[in-house]
Amino acid sequence: METFPQRILLGPGPSIIDPRVYRALSTPITGHMDPHFLGVMKEVRSKLRRLFRADYEVTIPVSGTGSAGMEAALVNFLEPGDDVCVLSGGFFADRMVNIARRTGANVQVIETEWGLPTDPARVSRELAGKRLKMLAAVHGETSTGVLQPLEPLAAIAQKHGALFVVDTVATLGGMVIETEKIGIDVCYSGSQKCVGCPPGLAPITVSERAMSVLRARKGPVQSWYLDLSGVEKYWGTERTYHHTAPISLIYALNEALNLIEEEGLDARSARHARNIAALGAGLSALGLEPLPAREYRMPMLATVRIPAGVDDMRVRSRLLERFNIEIAGGLGAFKGKLWRIGMMGSSSSEGNLLLLLAALEILLAEEGVGRAKGAGVSAAQSALESATEAVHA
Ligand SMILES: *Cc1c(COP(=O)(O)O)cnc(C)c1O
Repeated sequence: METFPQRILLGPGPSIIDPRVYRALSTPITGHMDPHFLGVMKEVRSKLRRLFRADYEVTIPVSGTGSAGMEAALVNFLEPGDDVCVLSGGFFADRMVNIARRTGANVQVIETEWGLPTDPARVSRELAGKRLKMLAAVHGETSTGVLQPLEPLAAIAQKHGALFVVDTVATLGGMVIETEKIGIDVCYSGSQKCVGCPPGLAPITVSERAMSVLRARKGPVQSWYLDLSGVEKYWGTERTYHHTAPISLIYALNEALNLIEEEGLDARSARHARNIAALGAGLSALGLEPLPAREYRMPMLATVRIPAGVDDMRVRSRLLERFNIEIAGGLGAFKGKLWRIGMMGSSSSEGNLLLLLAALEILLAEEGVGRAKGAGVSAAQSALESATEAVHA
């Protein structure tokens, strides 16, 4: 039989899958209307509500990757002529703009330089006196590593009576997101990043207010497949066939959610925060400078500038071939200029970050920009120790 590499996945997703989730993937499948499977679906919905911290009835894993969640979050609530504002400071927000434009809505884009968060005061100014049906933002912009504070944006959406739509593809499962308390109407994610499941599902939660916007549409949703009024009939109490659920993936998601609940979301968030801080300390000691300012860094992704004279592709292919580690390069304007290092879900561990720092140290020395031996690992160790002391203090 062919052998497959088992990589140490430290990119921005997919992340390492726990053996229990692989086992769940191979659960014998039933029909998608089997009473046993319907029970699993019900369980998955409850666990997703707890993960999103939202008691919204319509909470389901959409079939498809994170981008399917994005598309569902936009096309269900936008119609031709609607006014929508997308806050963009990176590649994934631009994808939202692309999808929103295809609905025929009037799309206003408020652009922020890549690497900076959106300034809510500016959004308030630019939207003053305008009608707005939807305000859309990305929580963790994986192309830049910026974490966008959501509360001030939620307040602006509320002031305009607009639906607040947020992309949490990279952040859900790696930090606490108080979807309902913040006032997010539509929050979507992906299964393969901090949730710890293979790619292929996009958890989404939708407020009653957003569902009433969907029910009051003048015309049908442009996508039949992602029309939540149809999908909801299968996932809700009606249980009518819409499309065949990806049964095996839903078993896998259910087990990934069990793992999250066993660890506890607070403990899991603390793990992500501690490990990314230690990784960041180690990367700085290696001369790799982070892109976002400290207070806007995602707790599950480090983005660092590639030093002058270092060959991006050579380092990344050596990391993969010699050390079995995957990290990612930059997207769009940051191609060749940035490394994106994920510590998502099971990938976020002390062992992985220390190994990566040791390997990077060797490869950077080969590129002629070496530091003192052990500098990266040693800085990370100190950060881990002080985090442990802080917990026990
Ligand atoms: C990964 C990602 C997406 C896209 O998800 P896919 O699973 O690749 O379709 C969207 N938004 C953000 C912020 C992401 O990190």
